[in-house]
Amino acid sequence: MRDKPVENLIVGAGLVGAVTARTLARHGQRGVLVERNADPGGVNGSFADDRGNWFDHGRHVISDGRSAFTTEFVTEVLRGRVRRFDLKRGLVVRGHLIPYAAELPDWPEALRERVRLDPGARVGLGSSREAFARAYGRWFADLAFDEMMAAYPVLTWHRERGVPEAHLMRWIFPWFFPRSEAEAPPDAGDRAGVYSEESRRYHYDCRHANPPRESVMYPEEGGFGRLVEAMLEDGREGFDLHLGAEDIDIDIDPESLAVRSVSTGGIRYRPGRVFWCAPLPVLCRYLGWTLPAGEPQWELLGSFTFERPVDRGLHEVLFADPDHPVRRINFPGLIAGGSDSHTLQVEYTTVGDEARLGADEWRSRWLTSLRKLGFVDAGAEPVFFDFKRVSRGVVSTEDLGAFLAGCEERIHGASGNLVAPHLAVASDNNARLIPKVHGRVERALGTRPSAS
Ligand SMILES: Cc1cc2nc3c(=O)[nH]c(=O)nc-3n(C[C@H](O)[C@H](O)[C@H](O)COP(=O)(O)OP(=O)(O)OC[C@H]3O[C@@H](n4cnc5c(N)ncnc54)[C@H](O)[C@@H]3O)c2cc1C
Repeated sequence: MRDKPVENLIVGAGLVGAVTARTLARHGQRGVLVERNADPGGVNGSFADDRGNWFDHGRHVISDGRSAFTTEFVTEVLRGRVRRFDLKRGLVVRGHLIPYAAELPDWPEALRERVRLDPGARVGLGSSREAFARAYGRWFADLAFDEMMAAYPVLTWHRERGVPEAHLMRWIFPWFFPRSEAEAPPDAGDRAGVYSEESRRYHYDCRHANPPRESVMYPEEGGFGRLVEAMLEDGREGFDLHLGAEDIDIDIDPESLAVRSVSTGGIRYRPGRVFWCAPLPVLCRYLGWTLPAGEPQWELLGSFTFERPVDRGLHEVLFADPDHPVRRINFPGLIAGGSDSHTLQVEYTTVGDEARLGADEWRSRWLTSLRKLGFVDAGAEPVFFDFKRVSRGVVSTEDLGAFLAGCEERIHGASGNLVAPHLAVASDNNARLIPKVHGRVERALGTRPSAS
């Protein structure tokens, strides 16, 4: 083992690691970025089929104007080579393709005629089934609480373990509901569980703009992964990339959280500071901290290329339909700025035995759904198919928010050299995450944050 002193060591070359490296390099810092995979990017990376069509790891765009800092940061990193557009979304409910945030008159007749809107009723996060029945009619409330929720294996998992249905409804409402005044505006201080107050306000404003509108940014070329690549190119002035580090071993004092060394590939790095930018459960394992009890959760991704366009003019379609094992379909060709998309990608999050099924089984299940819904013709076969199964942490009935807060407190309160620019128990939005990471890295350096 060869000892190597380094000023800074970053673990994880996803978006958080890349923002960290770029920020450090801009302050003249030097060091090494250690990544387990052969390629950087993490969930923000991209890959191409053999025709040169790009796919991301699930639909990825950056909300434009949601954070002025992020908009400026992304524009600067991509040297202005950024595409701006309004996201066109659809919903699938009971086999019908419906425009996102459409008012009831724009819903298909078969559904519309069974909804009973009460102009005086209001519902919000945590409202009961009875309150939803008063606002949208009994039939639609039961559809949402029974069928739509059943489309999400993770919600069924929680329900079977006694989590109240009103608490789980926040995954369905307001996304799959006709837009109406029944949706109460977010209250200040309303703790929305999985969603922050900022997120609720942002999506409420997008849905209730006239017309409903969400503006996003995307790299002009190279898929979404180009963003992380460009950040790493900026960071390379100061940082060496150590890829394929599958075997890192950390020597850390459990009291002070002082990292004495990080070893991988025959090198023992002796770091001045360590920036943890890999998943929190991995860090907990090194520290011997107990993770909340739960079951592994998986993101399944099916990426297809067809001879003919498949997009229907939409960038993404969200699903709440238990007949289809799909959470979202996105259309990479349109997202990348093409006039149509020969590619589509299915995203599905699940738990338990279903997650262990193989690529062929998922290919067949998804093709059945795509044909039934008319996205592809009955006889059409894909010319490319790629299957990925990616860990998404655990589902747990324990309070993950409290666990996260406890980890943050222990790390930020410790006297050691470990810095955590962003710890998470669930995906967060990059528009929020970029300024937060940038700010925390600057604070760790003792410089005055330039913005966040
Ligand atoms: C399907 C999907 C779609 C999303 N869409 C959007 C979107 O449209 N807009 C948006 O704003 N946000 C979106 N998000 C959220 C956002 O991408 C993430 O919250 C965030 O960017 C995660 O970045 P990260 O760097 O923390 O994590 P990751 O990308 O997971 O990076 C962590 C890195 O650490 C590495 N690593 C792990 N273990 C080790 C180890 N032991 N040693 C060294 N390295 C290790 C991993 O290989 C990886 O490269 C989406 C998330 C998902 C899952």
